[in-house]
Amino acid sequence: MSFQTDTIHAGVEPDKAYGAIMTPIYQSSTFVFEDIGKHRGFDYTRSGNPTRKALEDSISALEGCSCAVAVTTGMAAITTVLNLFHAGDEIICTDDCYGGTSRLMKTVEEHFNIRVHFVNLQNAENLLPYVNERTKAVWVETPSNPLLNLVDIAAVAALSKTRALLTIVDNTFLSPYGQKPFELGADIVVHSTTKYLNGHSDVVGGAVLSNSEDLDAKLKFLVNALGTCAQPFDCWLVLRGIKTLVLRMREHERNAQAVAEYLQGHPRVKRVFYPGLQAHPQHELARKQQKSFGGMVSFELDGTIDDVNRVLKGTRLFSLAESLGGVESLIEHPATMSHASMDREHRLAAGITDNVIRLSVGLEDGIDLIEDLGRALG
Ligand SMILES: *Cc1c(COP(=O)(O)O)cnc(C)c1O
Repeated sequence: MSFQTDTIHAGVEPDKAYGAIMTPIYQSSTFVFEDIGKHRGFDYTRSGNPTRKALEDSISALEGCSCAVAVTTGMAAITTVLNLFHAGDEIICTDDCYGGTSRLMKTVEEHFNIRVHFVNLQNAENLLPYVNERTKAVWVETPSNPLLNLVDIAAVAALSKTRALLTIVDNTFLSPYGQKPFELGADIVVHSTTKYLNGHSDVVGGAVLSNSEDLDAKLKFLVNALGTCAQPFDCWLVLRGIKTLVLRMREHERNAQAVAEYLQGHPRVKRVFYPGLQAHPQHELARKQQKSFGGMVSFELDGTIDDVNRVLKGTRLFSLAESLGGVESLIEHPATMSHASMDREHRLAAGITDNVIRLSVGLEDGIDLIEDLGRALG
């Protein structure tokens, strides 16, 4: 089936009890046994739930892999994956990752003695000097947050394979519509379904995906053992969101491209970060690796921090808020908001200056969005 058809049908079949066309919300903690050791596929919701299973089957079909586990948040997905590792192991992580990811990696390093090397992976070979006999995995986030730098997933995965390292990809920014990491050699994919997969800013959720019997079993075990599983109602909301993923992603991209081109020509804008621009240093890689350039645009304002503040408070359609991937447009200041948990030194080293502003371009009329930005930029 095509991707678009799968967004509507994968994992979903008419309810066996009454034929409801939409997956019911099985809001039940436990399930009745028919006999000793015999139940109808589910015994306790931490271990499994029919609504959650429908979502998991949908996401694994979209990513093209053998296993998906739906968890409470994107951070729960990352927590679950980090539990694959042991004290003494080392991980290489892309240096401009999501702020919460770098904060968690640093905590894991301190508490559990798992060493994390933050490395600029825009050139895949940069990881090589950090590989030793303790290295277990390479953590990739592409496009990165907030600067939309790209990592060549196929190149990282090829290098990782020769050294028996896992390649783990956070695919939140593009969703499986925009990028298919398993086709490029990834071993594990994580999502914050809070973002594009759900798409309506009304739930926090996550997913962990894998494509080998060994990892599938380990990750399912960990979600049950840790208790990071998603709740039935949240799963139902994400499942509903996925049905319009293709339509939303096309429109997010169309609006983001128009906004990026507008900002590029604006005299008060120093730099625009968007993979869909010819001027993006990795535009060719974006064309090769991605099916969509996505809906996230960042830019660096020419001016003082007061000027930055005026822009952040000056828009009417773009709301000043964290998060991304919803139908409504958002504007935010990475240095004090999404990336405040990253220490200043790490932030500046990654190129996230105090003048960087990040936009999550929503589904309003693109002309209205551009007018709104124009007003705020003055
Ligand atoms: C938001 C986000 C996360 C964390 O997800 P939550 O659902 O907020 O816990 C992880 N990675 C990326 C790239 C994100 O954008």
